[in-house]
Amino acid sequence: MTIKAVLFDMDSTLNSINEIAFSRKYFKMLHNRFFSDLAHQFFYESLTDITKNVMLSKSPRELAVKTFMSEMSKCFKKPANKIYDNFKEFYVTDYNQLEEFVQPAESANEVVQLCFDKGYVVVIATTPIFTETAIRKRLKWSGFGAYDFRLVTHAENMHFSKPREEYYTEIMKKIRKNPFECIMVGNEFMGDIVAPTKLSMNTFYCPQPSDNDELFVSPELKRFSKIKPSYRGTLRDFIELVKNDFQSNL
Ligand SMILES: [Mg+2]
Repeated sequence: MTIKAVLFDMDSTLNSINEIAFSRKYFKMLHNRFFSDLAHQFFYESLTDITKNVMLSKSPRELAVKTFMSEMSKCFKKPANKIYDNFKEFYVTDYNQLEEFVQPAESANEVVQLCFDKGYVVVIATTPIFTETAIRKRLKWSGFGAYDFRLVTHAENMHFSKPREEYYTEIMKKIRKNPFECIMVGNEFMGDIVAPTKLSMNTFYCPQPSDNDELFVSPELKRFSKIKPSYRGTLRDFIELVKNDFQSNL
């Protein structure tokens, strides 16, 4: 196998994150700080919907951050640039309190270091719905502040998001690699495995005990049940695979 690039998902793959507690506090702090004139429930539901719209957006000429800000501007009736400034301020202040919910995942540092040592192009392929500052902080809290990744995807450098195929095509264009030269490593079947498989990329599916195959219970995801990842295992299994230059069959 001629793998040249390893793409890692971040949340619940390279880190261990309490996503429920993280989101709850995130929304609460953001609301208190900049959106307290809006009803909390309205703010929470709108921002959740807007986030979904941004993730599914197909505007090739617009960066994700622009879509995000203009959608919020319409919904919250505030100028887009003012909202952008608010978010930028939030990410360098209150956002720091969320560090307590993020820890490095077991073996994650070892696996990333090994990929660098082996000379692979290493990419952080995380859902690009946050600005660069926010994503770099979460990466640092996950124990990867010192690595020089070829690319870290975020709302200010990506036009498309997971789970769209265009997100992965955009990454490959940026790192100048073909699908068969890449492997995507991630814990979410829908976001990390389906689109890369459709594009003929290699995949390593590493669900955490909590996310597992219950996904297939959802009718929405059942139609993807024919899709099989190239490999499946833990990060420790992935280390063995990298050590063997992807020659073994897990
Ligand atoms: Mg994840």
